[in-house]
Amino acid sequence: MITVEQYQESVLAHVAPLPTRRVQVTEAHGLRLAEDVHAVLAVPPFANSAMDGYAVRAADVAGATAAAPLTLPVVGDVPAGTSHPATVVPGSAVRVMTGGPLPPGADAVVPVELTDQPPGAAELPTHVVVREAVPAGRHVRGEGDDIRPGDTVLHAGTTLAATHLSAAVSAGHGELPVHPRPRVGVLATGDELCAPGTDPGPGRIPDSNSLLLVALVREAGGEPVPLGTVGDDPAQLRAAVGSALDRIDVLVTSGGVSVGTKDVVKAAFAEQLGFESVAMQPGKPQGFGVLAGGVPVFALPGNPVSVMVSFHVHVAPGLRRMLGLPARRPLGAARAGVAWRCPPGRRQYLPVLVEDDGAPLPSVRPASAGGSGSHLVASLALAQALAVVPEDVDAVAPGDEVGLLRW
Ligand code: AMP
Ligand code: MG
Repeated sequence: MITVEQYQESVLAHVAPLPTRRVQVTEAHGLRLAEDVHAVLAVPPFANSAMDGYAVRAADVAGATAAAPLTLPVVGDVPAGTSHPATVVPGSAVRVMTGGPLPPGADAVVPVELTDQPPGAAELPTHVVVREAVPAGRHVRGEGDDIRPGDTVLHAGTTLAATHLSAAVSAGHGELPVHPRPRVGVLATGDELCAPGTDPGPGRIPDSNSLLLVALVREAGGEPVPLGTVGDDPAQLRAAVGSALDRIDVLVTSGGVSVGTKDVVKAAFAEQLGFESVAMQPGKPQGFGVLAGGVPVFALPGNPVSVMVSFHVHVAPGLRRMLGLPARRPLGAARAGVAWRCPPGRRQYLPVLVEDDGAPLPSVRPASAGGSGSHLVASLALAQALAVVPEDVDAVAPGDEVGLLRW
């Protein structure tokens, strides 16, 4: 057996960040920016009104007060989106809405609340009564107030969140240079598998691993490419994989890597993949290798709990590396809420419920009453995290500190 770290190292040595390319901004959420991004447009791109009101020359309303209001003729109307606003000639006003371009000649905006006009939808008045003076520049958003063309808007290495995307499009971008999402082929093996929602019949079970993996891939930032299921026939498996290689960046299979008589992945890819016993529970049998075209393959065991654990421990770090992110995430910590047993000599990854009861560390207890068996797929749905217990511990007592791997 090799340690989890040894196996992770040997896998990550063959996984590299995907070459960067430009993707549509709508596809870039969660991806890592590969280069600094500079503004094409100023923000705001033109001087515009910060208020619904009347654009004026500040000098024309300098003396206005509630006691001595001033009346100006209204010579135009500028809703947001107007391209050629009317000019504010001396002694006049132009109605303007928030975001509408500041009319030529104007240097300030009198909010509608400081006039005799009603707020909300109204006909354009012939005149407006101004009850308060406004200094030059008031309620005007200047062109380039926030950033100017050429300014750096986003820095290389940023993981693109909602606000980064809105900044990028405001500054004029429709595409961004990123490490793209890896396209992850997902293939389940087993003669016993039937499609979800169909009657399995004797000796057969629904294929749950495909959906599990497709969803986990998506949660980890990859683009799943479901490749369906193949039976325990090495030729069939090689054909299915071969026909998918040109549309995937990495492949994840489930089942067929153990020591059974029909371990199909092992049989089909004995040359290309290395198969190891890793000192972990569940998830001891693992396979990994790189196929023609440089496609890495994670050959996971078949038991659903093993699949889930193997994904978080081995596949997710690989996908993060491909996304240009740090492969490993720091392990959290928790306290055992109850006692449980651990396999000697193997690191335990136990699906647990997590209770944040205000103590410095959250409390955890096994998610499955039936124990830690890797076939307990239905109770896996209760799990909120994995408790991680070192190889040299064979029993956990209430209050013991354990590692916590959240997703
Ligand atoms: P294997 O490693 O192929 O021997 O599979 C180990 C166990 O996982 C067996 O009980 C299989 O029936 C089960 N299993 C394998 N593949 C799947 C799958 N796609 N969905 C659900 N269970 C599976
Ligand atoms: Mg099988």
